[in-house]
Amino acid sequence: MIRQAVIMAGGLGSRLKGRTEAMPKGFIEIGGKAIVEWSVQKLFAAGVEEIIIGTGHCSEWYERLAEKYQCIKLARNDRYAETGSMGTLACCAPLVHGDFLLLESDLIYDSIGLSVLVNSVETNVILASGPTKSGDEVYLQTDDNGYLVRHSKNSSTLTRIDGELVGITKLAKKTLDSMVAYCLDHQKDQPKMEYETAMSAVSSASPDAASKIHVEKIEHYAWREIDDESHLEMASSTVYPLIVENEKVRSVRREVLLNPGPATTTDSVKMAQVCADICPREKEFGQVMEWVASELSLMAGAPGRIETVLFGGSGTAADEVMISSCIPDGAKLLIVDNGAYGARFAKIASVYKLDFEVHSSSGYLPLDVAAVQKKLIDGAFTHFAIVYHETTTGLLNPVPELCRFCHAHGITTIVDAVSAFAAITIDMDRDCIDFMASTSNKNIQGMAGVAFVFCRKEALEKTRLYPMRNYYLNLWDQYEYFRKTKQTRFTPPVQALYALRQAIIETKIETIEGRYERYTACWKELVQTVKKLGLEMLVPEAHQSHLITAIVEPSTPSYSFDALHDLARKHQFTIYPGKLSDANTFRIANIGDIKPAEMKRFCGVLEQYLHSIR
Ligand code: PLP
Ligand code: MG
Ligand code: MG
Repeated sequence: MIRQAVIMAGGLGSRLKGRTEAMPKGFIEIGGKAIVEWSVQKLFAAGVEEIIIGTGHCSEWYERLAEKYQCIKLARNDRYAETGSMGTLACCAPLVHGDFLLLESDLIYDSIGLSVLVNSVETNVILASGPTKSGDEVYLQTDDNGYLVRHSKNSSTLTRIDGELVGITKLAKKTLDSMVAYCLDHQKDQPKMEYETAMSAVSSASPDAASKIHVEKIEHYAWREIDDESHLEMASSTVYPLIVENEKVRSVRREVLLNPGPATTTDSVKMAQVCADICPREKEFGQVMEWVASELSLMAGAPGRIETVLFGGSGTAADEVMISSCIPDGAKLLIVDNGAYGARFAKIASVYKLDFEVHSSSGYLPLDVAAVQKKLIDGAFTHFAIVYHETTTGLLNPVPELCRFCHAHGITTIVDAVSAFAAITIDMDRDCIDFMASTSNKNIQGMAGVAFVFCRKEALEKTRLYPMRNYYLNLWDQYEYFRKTKQTRFTPPVQALYALRQAIIETKIETIEGRYERYTACWKELVQTVKKLGLEMLVPEAHQSHLITAIVEPSTPSYSFDALHDLARKHQFTIYPGKLSDANTFRIANIGDIKPAEMKRFCGVLEQYLHSIR
């Protein structure tokens, strides 16, 4: 698994002087975006969790980039004017923890090159292409097994040309360390050493294949390094359009899901599932699951405070885990039912024959907090279960307020945050939530198949001695087994977990606050149109989640949900009917990888349909 990338960006860019006197070369724009930002986005989309940028000349530009992307770390080469790229790479080396991708900052490239390197069975791999005639080629020569032995800008010094260096390489940490050592040994005679020199030296001197550097050639690879004006011209006029076309033909048909989950996913989340087969009991996969669980925990509370327990299953599995595993014998549970998912909590509690009562409330009017509080006290309840966001109608429940009240009265809190988590910011300590359920296919924007239960540490610890009412869905057993073995007790949904890993990377980039803003921008588009068309919303605006909107169906007899559904589907939008028995509604969800412009397009379809039936 490749988790880190290093971009070397210390250089002066002297052959592009007019543009780079006050700006690093990576900030030259092509297609409306800095070339280094294209690269950063492609690296994250390829599954890189963290990017280290080695800076020097005009490093403040990179400081601003690092503010925009939390997962960028900077290492400044203070001697950038006296050293070459190897000097900058050496400054980054202490931040590298394992196998990583190494890139030059002045490249545009087709993202397929990253997949080829990530997918390669070799640990050390240089990406090479066929002839580019760029005028600044670095030629590579390999031995008969395809390992790098020499490089040169002068082809006549090589006995054979086996490709041109692209500037994208996969390396082991150990290989990097050898390169840094080589650089230090030659500080006096080669103060301006380029990183290619260290790679060739390490590869050719290495006695065993494991630490040699393999050259992987894609003959017709679309890429360009931009060192001078002629490169920039070529890059903008021919190479960039080719890259755009290549990436477009590989994209997956876009379907925008406006149903309340599973939600629309990015292509990079879909592609993350396409990877080498692996036995989930391999240590490498254990690390993936451990990373997923710990990153999820960080989204639900302060570091070290939350344990996330993963299960194969849908959201209901996580709900059933909580109800069956987090309530001891002799406890008394109050469940708020103001929608289908509160009712589901009650159904599960009845299956397990727990001692519980239901507080029923309207599916679209705000919950009466005082009434719930009174019931909790009068009934001497020990446990409280509530749905954070009732997906049934888009009604948001006052969960922090009620859970704080519970904690003040020693009541344990159990929250279904299936459709709230990763859109609404939650801190389980601050919000007094002991146990919380969510799933991989809603706001976190992954694939269906992984259910998770978040636990405050002390609350989880208490469940150790609770009765084991089921087997597969037992919280403590699942937690304890994973803690000891880094494996799940039963076969995990391997590909869904890889997709979830990618979805988490993308959530961290967007941030949960940023995601909620985007969702809200989509919701505003919708609400604006709904009002314009004279349609009514079921839930008062102030109590809406901004995530799902239940719209009352028009009373005209010619209205048909199926006809609206079919028209929307023709335009790549999927919508879903309402779920309340006492109100005829249809629901529009704006969770998932959806953009305001797409919601606007859907609003056009809705408008078109309503005009057609008037
Ligand atoms: N809880 C809530 C609030 C939900 O919105 C959903 C699904 O939409 C579920 C539970 C059940 O999830 P699943 O259908 O994945 O079992
Ligand atoms: Mg060059
Ligand atoms: Mg260059």
